[in-house]
Amino acid sequence: MVTQRLLFGEQLGPLFDDEQVPVLLVESTAAFRRRPTHRAKAHLYLSALRHRAAELGDRAELVRAPDFATALAGRDLEVVDPVSYRARRLVRRLGAEVLPSRGFVTSEADFADWVRGRTDASLVMDTFYRWVRGREGILMSPAGKPVGGRFSYDADNRQPPPKGATTLQLPEPTLPVEDEIDQGVRRDLDAWQADGTVTFIGADGPRVFPATRAEALTALDEFIADRLPVFGPYEDATLTDDWRMAHSALSMTLNLGLLDPREVVQRALDAYAAGRAPLAGTEGFVRQIIGWRDWMWHLYWHLGEPYTTRNNALHATTRLPDAFWELDADAIQANCLRQVIGSVHERGWAHHIQRLMMLGNWALLRGYDPAETTEWFTGAFVDGTPWVMPTNVVGMSLHADGGIVATKPYAAGGSYINRMTDYCGGCRFDPKVRLGPTACPFTAGYWAFLDRAEPVIRGNPRMSRALAGLARLSDRAEVVEQERHRTEW
Ligand code: FAD
Ligand code: SF4
Repeated sequence: MVTQRLLFGEQLGPLFDDEQVPVLLVESTAAFRRRPTHRAKAHLYLSALRHRAAELGDRAELVRAPDFATALAGRDLEVVDPVSYRARRLVRRLGAEVLPSRGFVTSEADFADWVRGRTDASLVMDTFYRWVRGREGILMSPAGKPVGGRFSYDADNRQPPPKGATTLQLPEPTLPVEDEIDQGVRRDLDAWQADGTVTFIGADGPRVFPATRAEALTALDEFIADRLPVFGPYEDATLTDDWRMAHSALSMTLNLGLLDPREVVQRALDAYAAGRAPLAGTEGFVRQIIGWRDWMWHLYWHLGEPYTTRNNALHATTRLPDAFWELDADAIQANCLRQVIGSVHERGWAHHIQRLMMLGNWALLRGYDPAETTEWFTGAFVDGTPWVMPTNVVGMSLHADGGIVATKPYAAGGSYINRMTDYCGGCRFDPKVRLGPTACPFTAGYWAFLDRAEPVIRGNPRMSRALAGLARLSDRAEVVEQERHRTEW
């Protein structure tokens, strides 16, 4: 029997096909049936799979099956270790030859060396990031010091949006041109939706993100030329009319395996070396990839499969509202949330600050259940792979792990949103008001959250200022009572 290299949907670039062996690709609706999934995500995955099969021609076999186990039974397979517990169990059960995972800057063996002897409490991204910088010689001087004297330029990178601007006025990125493969995908999605095979959420707009290596390289070229030079200063800023700001929008391209993170980092370093990108922004971008992305990947394995369902340090049990599950922006009055949910509805994507400080922060303030919130993010976002969501949602956004991923809850009121976005001007609520009909649900929700979480977070020195503010609040009881009964947001 001929050995085939099984390529999962996250292994569609050249990095995963290095030996010119026969290839097996599997198209299954199982993943889309697990939870309501954004149509744009289903479209992107299927389009990328079918494009890859077409590129590989006779060397590839594309199998359509209700689930992977059916498609793989009785075959002789080799596979690069896949990206979820579920998939890893399956390939081992089937006896496939498993090669070490790829698609990250550091290997699982590297991380195992690094983490040996460290407790959960000493798992700090910044320490890991410095280690990777040194090990890889990225932005390091020949003497082993960080270029420019500092490892992090975050302090220079956190500017609000330019005053009076409605966009950053950066060139529009080239959108992929849909072809007959995309049309075929659309017809299949229509059919599955019509016969009830899957429940899709979100709009079925033209494909926005790359599905092929060629499209991925164009997106990378354009980011390096147009956005990297201003990535740093506006990394944390948000404007209503600029959905991408200076972000790369490369997460799904990396997560599909179409780009190797090392080549993305190298391109950023080349731009810096050629004087086309400043040090602060280059360092900030490189940190996202070799720091945060690798860090979240390793923590997914290190913290174990039950991490998502086992952790609920803040006792958050509120079910997600229909407005979230249906991506119904019209049901939401808070302009910041309305805009971000609208963006997710339109393309299954929002940038990091919208995810963390609007969606994640809201879920934290309102006590949304961590496991359900993780499910929601995973289905609603085009880049929502199983490994990336748990630590970003349960750990970083909801502080449900009690402080393993983030040393304090990322809770913020309306004043932060007012400073870093242009949302509040167009809102019926007022970010400065915490009581009454115009009370901002983020501002009032922030105090109500602190009141609720106080018994758990009291011992955290990074929360002492916030809790001191809470203690001084003259109308604390009224604000808490108001938020307990809030129906308008
Ligand atoms: P950029 O701002 O251009 O950053 C460059 C790259 O760095 C990203 O493409 C991504 O690959 C990587 N990166 C940066 N931060 C992180 C991080 N915290 N975790 C992992 N990678 C990171 N990222 C996903 O890839 N898939 C997700 O489903 C996802 N869900 C998230 C949910 C929440 C609640 C939060 C707070 C973060 C989530 N992230 C996720 C991380 C991050 O928000 C996205 O990677 C980023 O916004 C994608 O946009 P970009 O490509 O323009 O990123
Ligand atoms: Fe959001 Fe409050 Fe600002 Fe309205 S006032 S946009 S709810 S932060």
